[in-house]
Amino acid sequence: MDEQPILVTGGAGFIGSNFVRHMISHGRTIITLDALTYAGNQSNLADVDNHPNHIFVEGSIADRKLVGDLLSTYRPTSIVNFAAESHVDRSIDGPAEFIETNIVGVFVLIEAFRQHLGTRNGERSIFLHVSTDEVYGSTNDQAFKENSPYAPSSPYAASKASADHLTRAWFKTYELPTIITNCSNNYGPYQFPEKLIPLMTIKALREEPLPVYGDGKQRRDWLHVTDHCRALKTVLASGAPGHTYNVGFGHDIENLHVVNHICSVLDRLRPRRNGDPYSKLIEHVEDRPGHDLRYAIDTSKLRTELGWKPEIDFETGIESTILWYLENENWLRTMQADYSGERLGIARQNR
Ligand code: NAD
Repeated sequence: MDEQPILVTGGAGFIGSNFVRHMISHGRTIITLDALTYAGNQSNLADVDNHPNHIFVEGSIADRKLVGDLLSTYRPTSIVNFAAESHVDRSIDGPAEFIETNIVGVFVLIEAFRQHLGTRNGERSIFLHVSTDEVYGSTNDQAFKENSPYAPSSPYAASKASADHLTRAWFKTYELPTIITNCSNNYGPYQFPEKLIPLMTIKALREEPLPVYGDGKQRRDWLHVTDHCRALKTVLASGAPGHTYNVGFGHDIENLHVVNHICSVLDRLRPRRNGDPYSKLIEHVEDRPGHDLRYAIDTSKLRTELGWKPEIDFETGIESTILWYLENENWLRTMQADYSGERLGIARQNR
């Protein structure tokens, strides 16, 4: 096994599974720890399941003993933490799990890593906490910088903000080498079909109404998951301990435009039998409580200090993502079987 494995938590989810695949393709050994909640699925890692550089462990980041055992058995140099409850609407319906995983779980993980690092010396070690731009709240004006004040609006965003504070405090208090990344909305292969882009794609294919919250004028910065994974690899290799890096495409788009764009791509790739455009299925529904109007992210620090920039523009990325969903209908069916049709019927979107 690689001398320097990395522990990836939440690696069976959307971004985590893309990251595990990305790092293995770059020759790294990965230990994946995932609790396999409704959002995590081992089939997301099917192509690296038996890879010699990959070990999968089912379990929770909040399980102190398991995490301690994993660290002492595999002695990873770094942890990249994706494990989270990640859906805003679910956090409004039932916030308790968000507190348990996103705050208490991160506390258990970071404490275990602190004990573990005390037994290591030498090579670069990082606790990389993968967070969200939602910690900054909504903006009408300037894009968020790394030093923008935190103003989370939803229980999800508040739980992520809490974990960011823990991570920063563990650097300041214990000099634990931590880094936080705050990323904008991701899209791409393996995204669970409760989030905006896969949800609209599936509903359109089923000829169901496409529910858009309110007037659809909420703006989000959409980044392809592969660009996010490249950013995380860069930060892990050369980010400064104690620092935060914002990650995003750098251009925000209205939700209604996103849905219309999905419709026009599907019109070309899988036209409707009745010849109508998919956009005729769009229906405006009551807005989500506390819905942030605009997230915009300033990524100049990551670009100038670490030389990262996104490579996949929105149009190219959406087209390849929709093609992926069309070519992986089996994966979609598995996910849908794991997830009740009733919930999929609701306008759960925008993460
Ligand atoms: P996801 O919901 O698809 O995946 C989360 C994974 O964490 C799942 O595999 C789940 O089984 C696992 N998990 C949940 N609780 C766990 C626990 N207690 N122990 C171990 N594993 C557990 O989420 P995602 O969209 O891939 O997001 C990953 C991370 O990136 C999250 O922390 C999220 O806050 C952050 N993020 C997501 C986005 C986005 O647009 N999706 C944007 C910015 C940041």
